[in-house]
Amino acid sequence: MTVIDNTLNADGALIVGAGLAGLFTALKLAPRPVTVLSPKPLGMGASSAWAQGGVAAAVGQGDSSHAHAADTEMAGAGIVDHGTAESVTAEAAARIEDLARWGTPFDRDDFGNYALGKEAAHSANRIVKVEGDRAGWAIMQAIIAEVRRTPSIRVVEGITALSLARDNGRIVGVFCRKLGDRYSEPVFIRARATVLAAGGLGGLYAVTTNPPGVRGHAMGMAARAGALIADAEFVQFHPTAIATSADPAPLATEALRGEGAILVNDLGERFMPAIHPDAELAPRDIVARANFRQIQSGRQVFLDTRQALGADILTRFPTVSQYCLDAGIDPVAGMIPVTPAAHFHMGGVKVDERGRSSLPGLWVCGEASCTGLHGANRLASNSLLEATVYGARIADDIGGLEPVRNLAPFKGIEWDEAEGAKAEAILRDLPAVQQLRRVMTDLVGVERDVAGLSLALQQIARLEATAEHVTSAFLNMTTSATLVAAAALKRTESRGGHYRTDFPETDEHWEHHTTMALDEALAIRANA
Ligand SMILES: Cc1cc2nc3c(=O)[nH]c(=O)nc-3n(C[C@H](O)[C@H](O)[C@H](O)COP(=O)(O)OP(=O)(O)OC[C@H]3O[C@@H](n4cnc5c(N)ncnc54)[C@H](O)[C@@H]3O)c2cc1C
Repeated sequence: MTVIDNTLNADGALIVGAGLAGLFTALKLAPRPVTVLSPKPLGMGASSAWAQGGVAAAVGQGDSSHAHAADTEMAGAGIVDHGTAESVTAEAAARIEDLARWGTPFDRDDFGNYALGKEAAHSANRIVKVEGDRAGWAIMQAIIAEVRRTPSIRVVEGITALSLARDNGRIVGVFCRKLGDRYSEPVFIRARATVLAAGGLGGLYAVTTNPPGVRGHAMGMAARAGALIADAEFVQFHPTAIATSADPAPLATEALRGEGAILVNDLGERFMPAIHPDAELAPRDIVARANFRQIQSGRQVFLDTRQALGADILTRFPTVSQYCLDAGIDPVAGMIPVTPAAHFHMGGVKVDERGRSSLPGLWVCGEASCTGLHGANRLASNSLLEATVYGARIADDIGGLEPVRNLAPFKGIEWDEAEGAKAEAILRDLPAVQQLRRVMTDLVGVERDVAGLSLALQQIARLEATAEHVTSAFLNMTTSATLVAAAALKRTESRGGHYRTDFPETDEHWEHHTTMALDEALAIRANA
């Protein structure tokens, strides 16, 4: 193995994480020097590559960014920042052009216009997509190729960040380790500007659509360094993860319901029309709760695509079809068993309109951040958009601060795929990690109440105190879990993705963001 020089210096910016947020920021910083840390080879381990729907942007005839912003605010259940929604949707078309220029083969009609898809709660067809359900994969392939062609971007693969380094109140870099290596001394990478783009926290839940490495490390790291966290309680549960024994659960994209697929239970009853006028295309949280309640009452839930798509599902939704075939489900003749699964975190590290966190020297981009765009519930396909818009803004902001210099080439760590996979499996299967994920799904999930949330906080504290190898990685996870449960306990109402069975109504006194530092979350935990 190559040994990392402990004095490795990222003279330019340092980007932690290599999903769309991290790589887009790196490309926008070019030709300014930047180092990108990725636990796995580029393209692996990021939610971005798994996105099926696409990127929301008002680029169709008759559509407008104002209409897109209005839909975003409607979905966000009263706490989307109006200015943020207006400005992000206004910048969408330019960011789509960036992705196209870097080689993303977006679906187009015969005239070269984008062929747009429709997803729930959008008032127009505005999902820019690739081959039906392959947007994430195709976007990542294109930008990875562009990153590899860009000499100012230095990628270090096989490395995972553990903690942010703080000096005099300023973030000055990160402490890292080779993926899965819990025994060697951490490496310190110094940076003038650190961009945290290490994703959301779906993997903290036992039932999730997120890749195994995406489990709250970013928010946990930032909170431990003292950053303010916003809206941690708002977790979006996707209603239609495919119910197989696979962990993570593969996703059956919402676009299937956009095409007319319906939800039925094992008695053949279609239940959504009685719950919401938009039936299967009701906001995600409503559909997720409906599915959850069916399952809680002993029923099974299926997505029936037969009438809407028939055999076309194979060509129009190749990713979903393959997931079904892998699980022994016939996607043409059969129905797809589905379950709600933790999917997206609306909350995260609080940032301003330039992507700056509350800690000097630290910018946060993508799902790790809370920009105020999603409010209590994300509008479908707004997250890839947010990653690109803020990636560009952060690059602008850092570009104005940092001197341009060239970086010496750095070979990085050799990626040993077998060792990496083993390390990840060990981490994932540690009993304490599995217990934590179970606590989150059972007690901090689709439906919450005071008793469950209090018990969750007690159990998280116990796991933190008694887990056999309390590493920084585990502490990042328990820290994020604590923040989500504490914020959920504090918000005594239901709104968007946060549903309290003991406070089922939306309360206008709560029509605002929750802002919390780790101290407060720990105090709530201590009193639970
Ligand atoms: C199945 C699925 C389908 C989706 N479909 C859509 C869609 O159609 N449209 C849409 O807008 N959104 C969709 N989303 C949400 C969207 O994909 C994510 O919100 C978005 O990709 C987040 O991008 P990101 O760059 O912030 O994080 P990610 O893409 O998750 O990347 C995080 C990166 O950080 C790395 N990392 C993690 N921990 C560490 C650490 N400790 N140190 C260093 N690096 C670390 C990871 O390895 C990865 O490289 C979907 C999500 C999933 C899971």
